[in-house]
Amino acid sequence: MAERQETDVCIVGAGPVGLFAVFECGMLKMRCHVVDALDMSGGQCAALYPEKPIYDIPGYPAIDAAALIGKLEEQAAPFHPVYHLGRQVESLTEENGRWRIGLDDGTAIGARAVIIAAGVGAFGPNKPPLPGIEAYEGRGVFYLVKRREDFRGKRVVIAGGGDSAVDWALSLAEVAAQVYMIHRRPKFRAAPESVTRLEALAKAGRIEMVVPYQLARLEGEGGRLSSVIVATLEGQERVLAADALLPFFGLAMNLGPIAGWDLELERGHIRIDPATCAASRPGIFAIGDIATYPGKLKLILCGFSEAAMAAHAIYPLVHPGEALHFEYSTTKGVPAG
Ligand SMILES: Cc1cc2nc3c(=O)[nH]c(=O)nc-3n(C[C@H](O)[C@H](O)[C@H](O)COP(=O)(O)OP(=O)(O)OC[C@H]3O[C@@H](n4cnc5c(N)ncnc54)[C@H](O)[C@@H]3O)c2cc1C
Repeated sequence: MAERQETDVCIVGAGPVGLFAVFECGMLKMRCHVVDALDMSGGQCAALYPEKPIYDIPGYPAIDAAALIGKLEEQAAPFHPVYHLGRQVESLTEENGRWRIGLDDGTAIGARAVIIAAGVGAFGPNKPPLPGIEAYEGRGVFYLVKRREDFRGKRVVIAGGGDSAVDWALSLAEVAAQVYMIHRRPKFRAAPESVTRLEALAKAGRIEMVVPYQLARLEGEGGRLSSVIVATLEGQERVLAADALLPFFGLAMNLGPIAGWDLELERGHIRIDPATCAASRPGIFAIGDIATYPGKLKLILCGFSEAAMAAHAIYPLVHPGEALHFEYSTTKGVPAG
């Protein structure tokens, strides 16, 4: 039988905005469960640009995206959110004035209100169709680089022709023992300046260009990669001894099941009332990149403000009949972590 868990607010999306919503709800005595399709929190910050500095977070002249996520998790921690990571939210059904959120593993979360902070939708990497690739994922095959240092001294095969592939080839060439760059054609779709640097590093022997080749299969044992086999369109193969394969074929972004939740949408975004962040069904709220209203800016700081507004609008649903006295955090304080 499917497991059922009860909470006050279910937050769909553990990106920066969803994480801050945990804090804002917590300050108003509302417990949260947070679901994310990725197996880590942080949304776009963690998946797309963890080591890039962000310059427009108030109070931080510059902060790396991963560090910001760390701070947001720390800020949410005193409120003991329950995370369901690596789980996609599939269904949303109304049951006696509460919502039932169904996850892809059969878990059901019952909540009084739902905050959709799903960014651009559930996203995951476009995976190359290599037989048995799953066995190597997380040990020898990585779709994103969490820490550049993890690749120090390693033999790395990078596949792809866009900005991510080229940028990581340039970056990892500084720490890896060997970098192979696989692309099926000589032309790259990356920033021209980066391509020029790539070519210079290839000339200097710091990166080996394996072009025009495509990934063919993997070899290794027990999830440990030993070589990546690549092939031309004519079937001519090369065996590259390797410790890690990094395929960068873009992210598949998918509004997915949310599109079928009977919410008013506007070009793939959820239309909300900007005063409350309420969506078109009572008890459902949307904040961050997925929400739209006139003048909406897709910035993290705007999402933070929407999280505060949504939490205040949800309070009377979770605490009916209890007046909400607006208080500053300086007055109220936060629970010990
Ligand atoms: C390269 C780059 C640089 C950027 N630089 C800046 C900057 O300098 N300043 C700035 O303010 N913004 C910047 N942004 C934009 C910023 O990252 C986004 O505005 C921000 O991430 C939005 O946060 P979010 O929490 O709304 O959504 P996201 O970060 O997109 O997170 C949403 C999460 O919801 C999950 N999800 C979606 N659907 C489901 C589902 N059905 N089930 C389970 N989980 C689901 C996704 O997996 C994802 O983890 C940048 C973006 C990029 C790509």
